[in-house]
Amino acid sequence: MGIIEKFRLNGKKAYVSGGARGIGKSIATALAEAGADVAIVDLDLVEAQKTAAEISERLGVKTLAIRTDVANPDDVNQMIEDILAGFGRIDIAFNNAGICINIPAAEMTLQQWQKVIDINLTGVFLTSQAAGKVMLRQGSGSIINTASMSAHIVNYPQPQASYNASKAGVVQLSKSLAIEWAKYGVRVNTISPGYIGTELTLQSPDLKPLIQQWESVSPLGRIGRPDELQAIAVYLAGDASPFTTGADFVVDGAFTAI
Ligand code: NAD
Repeated sequence: MGIIEKFRLNGKKAYVSGGARGIGKSIATALAEAGADVAIVDLDLVEAQKTAAEISERLGVKTLAIRTDVANPDDVNQMIEDILAGFGRIDIAFNNAGICINIPAAEMTLQQWQKVIDINLTGVFLTSQAAGKVMLRQGSGSIINTASMSAHIVNYPQPQASYNASKAGVVQLSKSLAIEWAKYGVRVNTISPGYIGTELTLQSPDLKPLIQQWESVSPLGRIGRPDELQAIAVYLAGDASPFTTGADFVVDGAFTAI
């Protein structure tokens, strides 16, 4: 198989959590452009349906839209059943749903702490475990989890203790799963994006000064775009990366290299 062929995902079955918008939508689009059928998994069913329809109409692949709260084990089990009913297998699990709550640690309630950990870390555990069980039976599969450069550095000045802790957890969880499942043909990797301007962040007037500050300290002089994460996602998803597991890919325009 030639190198270009190895990047094709024709016939593969994927899902992307948090796939309705932002980074997840961009990744789902990339997987579909490479030929995969994609399930859009999100808390927001209406947006997920819009994204799924947009992708299938434009790219001619099969899509599903599934409402799931990744922090809820019953939802996650149902999601896996729905994907198997629609697609028959799972080759690519992209666990990307995540939230951030900016509150100083001294003022954070247990509920606020727990919400971020439940979605960002426990949600990645539940979805990786459920998809991983299917992949272990299949003897193959690629799990890709969205971490963050916040797994490696502490953002300043915004206070994000729970977010930073959750994303560091995602990296270590993913490495642990990669090692447990390596000999069964299931690969697990993380992508750690730097600041990425999504439709939502770019439109928010509250974030404008923060974005300007990030741009002023970024070595590239700008924040990233969701489409700049697409190539690494397609690489990790399929046959281009059989020897790549337990790895974390920082895509941050050298922000953490400063
Ligand atoms: P976003 O808020 O634009 O999109 C997140 C999506 O996840 C939304 O569609 C939302 O409905 C969904 N979601 C939220 N909670 C959910 C839950 N419990 N179950 C299922 N779906 C849920 O965010 P984004 O900027 O596209 O970020 C996506 C991922 O990338 C997150 O994990 C985030 O932490 C990470 N990340 C983002 C940046 C950035 O600068 N945008 C940088 C590093 C990492």
